[in-house]
Amino acid sequence: MKGQQTRMGDNILADWTIEDAERLYRVNRWGGGYFGIGQNGNLKITPDLNNPDIRIDFKAVLDEIKQEGIQFPVVVRFHDILRSQVAQLNTAFRNNIAEAEYQGSYMGVYPVKVNQMREVVEEIVDAGEAFNYGLEAGSKAELITALAYNTNEDSLTILNGYKDEEFMRLALLGRKLGRKIIVVVEKFSELVSLVKISKEVGIEPLVGLRSKMTVKGRGKWEGSGGDRAKFGLTIAEIINATIYLREHGLDHCLKLLHFHIGSQLTDIRSVKEAVSEGARIYAELYRMGVPLEYVDVGGGLGIDYDGSQSTNDSSRNYNMQEYVADVVYGIKEICDLEKVPHPNLVSESGRAITAHHSCVVTQIMGEIRSSGGAEFDTSAQQDEHVFVSNMRGLAETVDEADSIQEIFNDASQYKEQALDAFKLRVLSLSELAKIETLYWQIMMEVQQKLRTAEFVPEEMQELDYNLSSQYLCNFSVFQSAADTWAIDQVLPVVPLTRMNERPTVNCSLVDITCDSDGKIDQFVGEHGISDVIPMHKIKPGEDYFIGLFLTGAYQDVMGDMHNLFGRLNEVHIYSYDDDPEDFYIEEFVSGSSVGDVLSIMQYNPSAMAQNVKKMIDKRISSGQIKPREGVKWTDFYEACLAGYTYLKTSTK
Ligand SMILES: *Cc1c(COP(=O)(O)O)cnc(C)c1O
Repeated sequence: MKGQQTRMGDNILADWTIEDAERLYRVNRWGGGYFGIGQNGNLKITPDLNNPDIRIDFKAVLDEIKQEGIQFPVVVRFHDILRSQVAQLNTAFRNNIAEAEYQGSYMGVYPVKVNQMREVVEEIVDAGEAFNYGLEAGSKAELITALAYNTNEDSLTILNGYKDEEFMRLALLGRKLGRKIIVVVEKFSELVSLVKISKEVGIEPLVGLRSKMTVKGRGKWEGSGGDRAKFGLTIAEIINATIYLREHGLDHCLKLLHFHIGSQLTDIRSVKEAVSEGARIYAELYRMGVPLEYVDVGGGLGIDYDGSQSTNDSSRNYNMQEYVADVVYGIKEICDLEKVPHPNLVSESGRAITAHHSCVVTQIMGEIRSSGGAEFDTSAQQDEHVFVSNMRGLAETVDEADSIQEIFNDASQYKEQALDAFKLRVLSLSELAKIETLYWQIMMEVQQKLRTAEFVPEEMQELDYNLSSQYLCNFSVFQSAADTWAIDQVLPVVPLTRMNERPTVNCSLVDITCDSDGKIDQFVGEHGISDVIPMHKIKPGEDYFIGLFLTGAYQDVMGDMHNLFGRLNEVHIYSYDDDPEDFYIEEFVSGSSVGDVLSIMQYNPSAMAQNVKKMIDKRISSGQIKPREGVKWTDFYEACLAGYTYLKTSTK
């Protein structure tokens, strides 16, 4: 960092550039080309990689959301990003296939489970039309969705996951409707049931087999591969399956070999290994007379959430182009060696398609400091306890002290002594308050000194974190960023404005749930992952908005109802060249009302309103509440029932 930082919380020295902000927040590195920092310090969005002229200022989006009277927090969806990612993936496969003179074609599918929102699925199907891009379903509800939405007869519908007889029947309905629906068998008994029902209804299925791979993906989901994998057939079962189909005269129905070794594959080596293992199995089966037409490499294409381009759990050491090239060239090489035709290629990339397109926008509601942040008079008083004078004496000598360690130790010891003394009724409450206030002053000075120290003793290393602020954000981690809580997923967080100012407050983020786990304390930082992030000092009377990015995959749809906050308000943004701000809000989808979330929990909101009204009426009858006032209270309760679950703020 350039320049010198003055005491925490003091203001800014002017020498702060957009490049400094980029180094700190790494927007270009995790932004995938879609996000960047503008010269005015606002976050900018380039929603279509093929049209860099369209550049949206996030501040303009915020202003329009406010103008429309939409309450924060909101999910903002950039539909053009979805379309752009569908195009990127399909074009990458097409280009590599042409370049490699690969004989098959690419027939990708979008796995619905990654983001099942209708608007997302519709947009992907529409953007994928030109590429015959299809859908993947892993449950009955998803299959029912795919049947209704994947209407392009030239695209594939791939069915994974465990299946019952009804599921098979739905799949065969799809065949009847002329759709290329492939039932991927996860376990042998599914094949038996599929064959039985197919005979019953007189419709031949298209069959895929999922192979249990010996290769394990590296990353959080490595359990999807290996011997203990939950899904897939062993090699022996695969061979038995081909025999079983032949015995039933259905061997010509076996079309696809499938594998999936895990999501968010962090290391390109596992992709290469899985591709060569899969290609070998395909080639052998083909030579055994099984007329396979497709090899489906599953999902796993990772996202660089922390911008490190590494094998960190929240990153990956490759990009989409390299992934696609490894699939195409990897399969080609083995097929050429084994002298079998190149199969059509299928991939089920979900995360890579949807992660960038949505983000959560919320305001900071306030700052919580370990020291409480309150001003408290610590001046000397006659007959004060010696513990207070001791702590004050220490505070006055920090500047000249030779050993910071000694100051740190003494201050910590005095504070503990004071607490004991308070419990024994030796110290008064206000004396304890003085000691605490002086203690935090000392710690802040110690922290300043440590900034320039050559060596920081272990016990003092946590001081930065302990002294950092917590910014209170109007949202729920459990609803909007479940994986940050469940699996330590790192998601990029940045202020949406003021990035041309030096951020002076080191903080972590806490949400508004009554759960101490409702926090974010892992951030993309200048030197890797950090437990605090520098943000700007909140100015009284001014909004400060932050965005939680790359939430479009899984996070968008996995949230839960902890504390009965529910779904967020959503705005759907489309870019539009002729607009002065390059965009318009195409749709506003209202989030959960208090009544909505209560109904899900089996309450009856209208009965509740009546109960409260009855209580108010009773007080009116007995003269304890005036009638006009009573009506106001009744209306107020009903308005709150119909209102948003999150904190109401007056936005400026
Ligand atoms: C979850 C899943 C996917 C999607 O994986 P991503 O890593 O999000 O691309 C694909 N195929 C199967 C079988 C899955 O279970």
